[in-house]
Amino acid sequence: MKFISGKNAGKTLEEVLLKKPDFARWYTEKYGSTAHAKEFVRLAKVFAAKSFVEKCHGCGNLATRASAYQGDSSLMFWCDECDMYSAGANAGKLQEIKTITHALDHIKHTASGNRALSRAIVKRLTEAKGLPKRVSADQATKFFK
Ligand SMILES: [Zn+2]
Repeated sequence: MKFISGKNAGKTLEEVLLKKPDFARWYTEKYGSTAHAKEFVRLAKVFAAKSFVEKCHGCGNLATRASAYQGDSSLMFWCDECDMYSAGANAGKLQEIKTITHALDHIKHTASGNRALSRAIVKRLTEAKGLPKRVSADQATKFFK
């Protein structure tokens, strides 16, 4: 599925979700009943169900979640068993992140929804799920298959 008009004309929904997740969320909230909005929701669920390829910072096993510091888009990766705070973060300052929704909520609540940070955190999450730094339209589509 592609956008046929607007500033994302010609782009697939998969690409837009990964590269402009702030737009995908805005669109889904504003045009929730449209086929495109429903597809964004479906794709976000597929993304959430994908395993991480990143290793846990604590033990080196495969990560199952990430942690982010308030107002920051960088992520640290963890398995379910290791303590996110073991790397020295101040108590109560970390947010657990597993999905695009978690990532966008984190930036919304700790950095006023800053667009660059929203995109950076989802980009990092995308890499942690096995996609390259520069994702082509084809790679994005295959990832969600
Ligand atoms: Zn671990």
